[in-house]
Amino acid sequence: PAMIRLTGVGKTYPDGTTAVHDLDLAVGAGELVVLVGPSGCGKSTTLKMINRLIEPTTGTIEIDGRDVMSQDPVALRREIGYVIQQVGLFPHQRVEANVMTVPLLLGESRATARERAHELMELVGLDVETYARRYPHQLSGGQRQRVGVARALAANPPVLLMDEPFGAVDPVVRVRLQDEFLRLQRELGKTVVMVTHDIDEAVRMGDRVAVFATGGRLAQLGTPAELLGR
Ligand code: ADP
Ligand code: ADP
Repeated sequence: PAMIRLTGVGKTYPDGTTAVHDLDLAVGAGELVVLVGPSGCGKSTTLKMINRLIEPTTGTIEIDGRDVMSQDPVALRREIGYVIQQVGLFPHQRVEANVMTVPLLLGESRATARERAHELMELVGLDVETYARRYPHQLSGGQRQRVGVARALAANPPVLLMDEPFGAVDPVVRVRLQDEFLRLQRELGKTVVMVTHDIDEAVRMGDRVAVFATGGRLAQLGTPAELLGR
């Protein structure tokens, strides 16, 4: 059964730009699907529609069998974690407080939220002793992305959407983050849709890869082995 199902999804912006055209895509529970393609081919628009940040012009999107447009946006936030390239951490809050935000919003006590934040930091490989009390500007790019992933996991959502999550980190760190993320994703069984323009990253990480072409059309969809003709 699909965890995420897009049926005939299209998006034309008010200025007439068609960003996504008639997209059908089903993502299984626990699967990692990568959307790859040149800049401007509709990858981010697709993610934002799954997240209900943008409303599709045509078609339907279901998460776990429920239409996202008919769901309460707050309930949807608990089901979907969202990681973007420039993680929007609160600059005047320590790492710990940044990760605590979600548990606090969900009604946890400060003590429980802090415990949860520490647990999440360990999960993404950030030593609590060293980093909990730091501010975002005292972290490297890779460490900031880890905080972003920790925060996205805070509500324990079954689904993670990631838009160029490793785009801002240098190539060596990127490969390490990719590997660690894959391990984490398998361990936690998350369903993931990830956007990248980096074909190597797509092939390395995707259970399946959806290749977009200009005009927001799905050009190819398959496992890395299928796409590489192996
Ligand atoms: P990608 O993530 O693949 O780079 P996007 O989904 O960001 O692509 O953009 C797809 C197309 O939609 C591009 O032509 C882009 O210029 C256009 N676009 C994105 N956002 C808007 C918007 N708010 N209004 C009009 N056009 C937009
Ligand atoms: P990475 O290779 O992970 O991107 P960097 O080379 O950016 O790491 O940083 C190396 C180390 O220096 C990291 O442990 C990081 O926490 C630390 N660091 C980077 N910037 C600062 C800062 N402004 N204040 C304190 N520590 C910092």
